Amino acid sequence: MKQRDMIKTVRGQRAVDGAGVRLVRVLGNATVRDFDPFLMLDSFDSADPSDYVAGFPTHPHRGIETITYLISGRIDHEDSLGNKGTIFAGESQWMTAGSGILHQEMPKPAERMLGFQLWLNLPRSEKMADPAYLSITNEAIGLIRQDKAEIRVLSGRFGDAAGVAPQHIPASIFDICLSAGGTIDIPTKPDETVFVFLIEGDAVFGGETVPVKTAVLFGVGDSVAVSAPADADARFIFISGKPLHEPVAWGGPIVMNTREELEHAFDELDKGTFIRHG
Ligand code: MN
Repeated sequence: MKQRDMIKTVRGQRAVDGAGVRLVRVLGNATVRDFDPFLMLDSFDSADPSDYVAGFPTHPHRGIETITYLISGRIDHEDSLGNKGTIFAGESQWMTAGSGILHQEMPKPAERMLGFQLWLNLPRSEKMADPAYLSITNEAIGLIRQDKAEIRVLSGRFGDAAGVAPQHIPASIFDICLSAGGTIDIPTKPDETVFVFLIEGDAVFGGETVPVKTAVLFGVGDSVAVSAPADADARFIFISGKPLHEPVAWGGPIVMNTREELEHAFDELDKGTFIRHG
């Protein structure tokens, strides 16, 4: 059994998206190859509602899935499939854009908005799949406690705890809280891309301390080990999924395999023929 080594760290950059939401873009165009099948990771952490209340008014997506998770705060959402609701703290949504969806995501004022949105690429054969929406409420999130660790399983499986089973790429997403001085060993599938994002507190990898809000990519192996510093707790998101190894043609909210498919998508948006379901 080989433990995976830390091979890359990514800090992300401040960005403004939607109608003026200030966020930190951790993964994006520059990291597509290394983090395949994960396209984008936006980190939200603000105590100032003016950073985010402008929200993400109605916009399209095609060819991807977006996974949103909130540790605190809330987001109202509505989409062209007729879904309408609120993501509350401790909940997640798994939105399959597939052939096309229009949605809006509107964060509401809270003491702190803490969470992320992850974009998961769809393989060529499933880019035009039917759009779908999965609300991951508290009851759907598996919870398991170990010595100094608390693991919330949003998707996939950790020990006896299971989260949702994704319909397309079976990515595993865990939210892990480690008490000061604690260490966790997480088994990983050998053929998957594995990274963690440090959402609260620094963490230690092979004796090296990595600062909060960093994404840490691992090399090949069967497990990863993450430790909290001796004097502080750590909370991180574990993310794992099998790479697609396909060409990526990315235009804003639409991610296809070729430039032609991308142009076709924008052409359909212009003509009003983009949405096939809803
Ligand atoms: Mn969106």
